[in-house]
Amino acid sequence: MRALQNFQFWNRWWVKSRPPFAMAIKLPRRRLLLWGALVVLMGVGQSMLVWFTMGYENSRFQEEADVAGLAVSSELRQTMGQHLQSLQSLLWNDPPLTKWRAEATDLLRSHRQVLRIERRRTLEAQLQLTEAIDSPFGHPLFSVMPREQLDTEMTLACTNAKRLAGPAYSRSYFVPLLGGHGVEVIDLCIPIQLDGRPAGYMTAVLSLPGLLNLANSGERAKKVEASLVDGDGSRLARSGSVRGAGVYVSDNLIDLPGATMKLRIDNSAGRPGLIPNLAVGLVLGLSLGLTAVVVLLVRDVRRRAKAESALAEALAFRKAMEDSLVTGLRARDLDGRITYVNPAFCKMVGYAPHDIIGQIQPPFWPPELIQEYTQRQAERLLGSDSAAGRRLAQGSERIFVRADGKRISVLIFEAPLVNGEGRHAGWMSAVLDVSEQRRVEELARQQQEQLAATARLATVGEMASLLSHELNQPLAAIASYATGSLNLLQDPTIDQHMLRGAIERIAKQAERAGQVIKSVHDFVRRREQKREAVRPQELIDAVLPLVHLQARRSRALVKVEIEDNLPHLTCDRTMVEQVLLNLTRNGMQAMEANTPIDQRELQMMLRRGPLRYLSFHVIDHGPGIPAEVAQRLFTPFFTTRAEGMGLGLSLCRTVIEQHGGTLSFKNRPGGGAEFAFTLPAEELGNLCQTPRGDRILS
Ligand code: ADP
Repeated sequence: MRALQNFQFWNRWWVKSRPPFAMAIKLPRRRLLLWGALVVLMGVGQSMLVWFTMGYENSRFQEEADVAGLAVSSELRQTMGQHLQSLQSLLWNDPPLTKWRAEATDLLRSHRQVLRIERRRTLEAQLQLTEAIDSPFGHPLFSVMPREQLDTEMTLACTNAKRLAGPAYSRSYFVPLLGGHGVEVIDLCIPIQLDGRPAGYMTAVLSLPGLLNLANSGERAKKVEASLVDGDGSRLARSGSVRGAGVYVSDNLIDLPGATMKLRIDNSAGRPGLIPNLAVGLVLGLSLGLTAVVVLLVRDVRRRAKAESALAEALAFRKAMEDSLVTGLRARDLDGRITYVNPAFCKMVGYAPHDIIGQIQPPFWPPELIQEYTQRQAERLLGSDSAAGRRLAQGSERIFVRADGKRISVLIFEAPLVNGEGRHAGWMSAVLDVSEQRRVEELARQQQEQLAATARLATVGEMASLLSHELNQPLAAIASYATGSLNLLQDPTIDQHMLRGAIERIAKQAERAGQVIKSVHDFVRRREQKREAVRPQELIDAVLPLVHLQARRSRALVKVEIEDNLPHLTCDRTMVEQVLLNLTRNGMQAMEANTPIDQRELQMMLRRGPLRYLSFHVIDHGPGIPAEVAQRLFTPFFTTRAEGMGLGLSLCRTVIEQHGGTLSFKNRPGGGAEFAFTLPAEELGNLCQTPRGDRILS
């Protein structure tokens, strides 16, 4: 039945706590969709980032090339302008030839890009060379190929100069040098005017690489390659310490009077690679970092979700457990206010949680006990170390009044409630309804009392003949003394002394009969079980008259041995007396059959036992207890006697064990049985006996 209930409980709990089937199916698909969207978004975002970064890099390098193009072309123009000015200054004021030579030489020294300066005059429509000065740096320019073979471009330039009436440049041409080298040059032809009339030309041969190197120098030369390109695309000169990669190219037109060239700037930077590029690398790194953070976050969220579901499960389990508990649970805060009750508690007291929670004096306290319970609560609030706290931890019994007015006994175990931070936050109580248990105990007690009373009546019933005999004697004596007294009264010479003696005897015999009746009455009277402090000797004294009665019938001798100065006992004296009487009666009955009369001796002994126990012994000289009887000796209703009830010894054992002692027996070596039982004595230090036997507290 219990197993079935358990199964039903767990089954209900499982059905309540597991997720519905449809939800279990839907969840992964939705999660998959979300994951897919996240991955796609991150992929698109990262690609766009990389694309934008590379676009930015491209435009940056192109811009670098454009800026360099503008700068180099402006430098080039500026340099060529300066050269032109310097050359024109040679002609100012028509200096004498020697001075012109000296100044031309200086100019060649200070302008390394000017390789040669010439003067020509027109003779028979031909330009005739009159003066020529070569740059002091290096060999004369036309030492490998004579000037006459390379003057076509110069002639064209001078024709242009004449037409323009100002300086004009030639197309570039190549001049071979010693050692297989050569240089691309350009001629500048400046017409000479004397008194407003043409008086020839001054020409200068300019080195294109020299001009370009001057324009593209410094840091720029380390980044870009500058080239001068002809109209047909062939390269005339280049400068720069790096080679252009051909990716970021900027073309600028150098438009000179009489000649046009293209300045091509080629950035050394190649197309940005995906990985080696710093910016892209950074972006990729950041993206990867972002991805890693997202993954970590997702893992964290998952872990949290797992922890949450575990927590929810634990809560559901706790709730299910609380709901299924039969023990009532109640929590109070430090002010004694009820903060929590479980369903079992509510069921026990018959109130709803909202009737109880928040109360200091709950409605289930009996009105007459409110003061006592409030006092106890105040003691408990002093702390768990107080005596009240310790008592409550061991469990204390209280009376509660249910909502329907019924009173119930509850057992409360209380312990300090410690919160998550380890601080004492109140008290937790486990409450058990013990009303039924108490009712059963009371019933058992009443039944046992009834049984004991029945057993006592049975004992007295057995002794009825003895009693009649015992009472017959004093009554017969009283009757004869009464007759004697009456006779004496009829005699006129009455002896007052004799009459008094007879009446005194009557009174004594009546007292004796009364004592017999009282001892039987005392024994049979049914009393409430009550424990009291008694002198051990009193117990033996109380049963001795009845023991003697029995002994007389059994024709046995009773011997009593009691140790001096024994401590007191706390016991239910009627019950212990009954035990003594049962044991003595059994002993004497055992001797009645086969023990010779002169050996029928019953010994009662009382002495200190082990530890703080007192030990009582009843020894007989009967046949002892056979093994087959010994096995069942304490079984209720086991008897070997026709008129016996078989309750005596089982009752004796129950009584002694209830008092915290033990009952045992053994066969004595010389024949006979010895029954012994122990009872715990009061603390010797607490109670002392006065010589008169009264107890005083030490
Ligand atoms: P009852 O006296 O009604 O038979 P008891 O429980 O007192 O019931 O005793 C049970 C049995 O134990 C007795 O019938 C007897 O056989 C045996 N018994 C008890 N005391 C003694 C004893 N001192 N010597 C021998 N046998 C005993």
